[in-house]
Amino acid sequence: MGKKSAFNLRNKHYFPPLSQLPWEGKRDQRFCNFFFQPIRRWCLLVEIIERNISPTSGHTNSKAPPVTCRVRDVDGRELRIDLHNGMRPGTVVDDCTRGYTMAIMCPTRHRFQDGGVGVNIDDLSALMVIPVSMNDMMQINDKIRTVRTCAICQRKTRYGCELCQMPYCSVRCQTVSWNTGHRELCQAAHVVRIWRKVDWNNTTLPGFY
Ligand SMILES: [Zn+2]
Ligand SMILES: [Zn+2]
Repeated sequence: MGKKSAFNLRNKHYFPPLSQLPWEGKRDQRFCNFFFQPIRRWCLLVEIIERNISPTSGHTNSKAPPVTCRVRDVDGRELRIDLHNGMRPGTVVDDCTRGYTMAIMCPTRHRFQDGGVGVNIDDLSALMVIPVSMNDMMQINDKIRTVRTCAICQRKTRYGCELCQMPYCSVRCQTVSWNTGHRELCQAAHVVRIWRKVDWNNTTLPGFY
């Protein structure tokens, strides 16, 4: 996915569902080298169903209880995500809202004490919350991929939204789009546009960019 044109949120090599994540503590050559260092980036996309359900079992290693979210992955499978060190206000955890999309960089699969499978997040810099649904994320992905076609009328164009580069042929189409929800989608489209420029095979930069 070094080339822009190959970028696709539907590519499960880089955006795998829970069932394809490496297991915590197990060396998985698809993702890590002999020393557990990532050999590329991968990102788990999930939609938040519920935040702050009480954990079903105790956490042996943590002092403060984690913030727990129930989410759904790209395969429609439900899983639990525990956010540690997120009790302080002003962190990304505040943005975790039902219906929003979570993006988690380079996660591993964790088996909780109750037998359920999910993800533990200790480093909150690996988490981004995007204020649109997964369905909206995928629609943005598909529209941005057809780069030179107006998002409203499909006419060929070289112009687009200044903030996110979503293509529009005219001010009229851009206004229609803005009044029918682009305001909310613009932030997400901005994220997708930045992700398209990232070299997903380069692991020297931590985090998302
Ligand atoms: Zn148009
Ligand atoms: Zn925009």
